[in-house]
Amino acid sequence: MILFTTYIRWGRGVLQNASGAIYMRLSREDGCGNPESASISSQRILLMQYARAHGIAVGYQFADDGISGTTMKRDAFRRMLALIESGAIRTLLVKDLSRLSRDYIRTGALLEHWFPAHGVRFISVDDGIDTQSAAASGDFFPIRAVMDDWYARDISRKVRTAIYARQSAGYCTAAALPFGYCRSGSNIIINQKQAETVRQIFHVYTEGAGFRQIADMLRDPASPLFSPERRWSDVSVRRILTNPVYIGKLRLHITEKLSYKSEIRIKAENPIYCSVQPIISEQEFEMVQERILSRGHSRPSAHWLSGKITCGCCGARMHITGAGAKCRIICGMRKRGGDCRNPSVSMTILLRMICEQLQRDGIPEPQTHCRSLIESICISADTVTVRVRYRRPTA
Ligand SMILES: [Zn+2]
Repeated sequence: MILFTTYIRWGRGVLQNASGAIYMRLSREDGCGNPESASISSQRILLMQYARAHGIAVGYQFADDGISGTTMKRDAFRRMLALIESGAIRTLLVKDLSRLSRDYIRTGALLEHWFPAHGVRFISVDDGIDTQSAAASGDFFPIRAVMDDWYARDISRKVRTAIYARQSAGYCTAAALPFGYCRSGSNIIINQKQAETVRQIFHVYTEGAGFRQIADMLRDPASPLFSPERRWSDVSVRRILTNPVYIGKLRLHITEKLSYKSEIRIKAENPIYCSVQPIISEQEFEMVQERILSRGHSRPSAHWLSGKITCGCCGARMHITGAGAKCRIICGMRKRGGDCRNPSVSMTILLRMICEQLQRDGIPEPQTHCRSLIESICISADTVTVRVRYRRPTA
């Protein structure tokens, strides 16, 4: 959660050569209530006092306000690391180790390897750590770092338990409601107009229309099914037809984070249902489910990689054609007869390349997790670049 980040370059000219930096961080889990939190100011006062007392000229100030120490995606923090890398910062002051990070692996990596490698003197005022003085040795870095990490884990668990408890007690924690429902105060009620569209979608499907045909009707102003409230596609029609909310079961807690440090969401093992008023009879819903299975188009949605692949030669989006062993990826420009010369690639080969890259990056199986990790793929005549939504520690 980014409330704001600031980065102040002090006293241009006067302190130009000052290579000291102070870093401050406050997150919601630290219990901030007020904006430009008193605690950032108090950290600043403490650090500046310490710097003055020890003859350190501070040329840079970095503050991340409202950002958790479990993430490295902190603007001011990143800029600070970049300046350290460029050699502009020689001394870094923080109030305590947890300001730097609440992830003990990263804290350790920074303190034990990265700062020494860049010749940075590191001072943690509250912990009495100063890497330049032998007396104030950092023998207990690891223990402090583990404690800070544990604190973040504990808070994360408490928040999750609270949300889970609310969901289990029947509160709807969903941010957006499915088509056909709306909120009235704290209650979830049926939106009659949308509900009528839902009933018609089920009805038309049982009469034999397919997903795409229904989507066409929903988009067609001349059709009695016309509904301009959504952008309809075969995928959104299928979602309506398979969502148990229409028999009164609103799914909550559909996905969950891989871990408290991870940005990756995976399908939850135990989804929770919240009761709402049904729109469709269970009998009709079941009939539709059976029909969807028997028609054999259980997944009209595109290949999981579609939309993620671009052509490295012309920049066009690449299309996935064919199925099974004959599935290939071809440049959209080339397919349309444009002058791109990028040859098509077999899906089998591409998948093998992806697996190899993930393994090199140290991302293990299972594959279902890997799928959500892949952000984009760029295929040129001789190289395949896979961008993975996973960051190795900066240090
Ligand atoms: Zn191309």
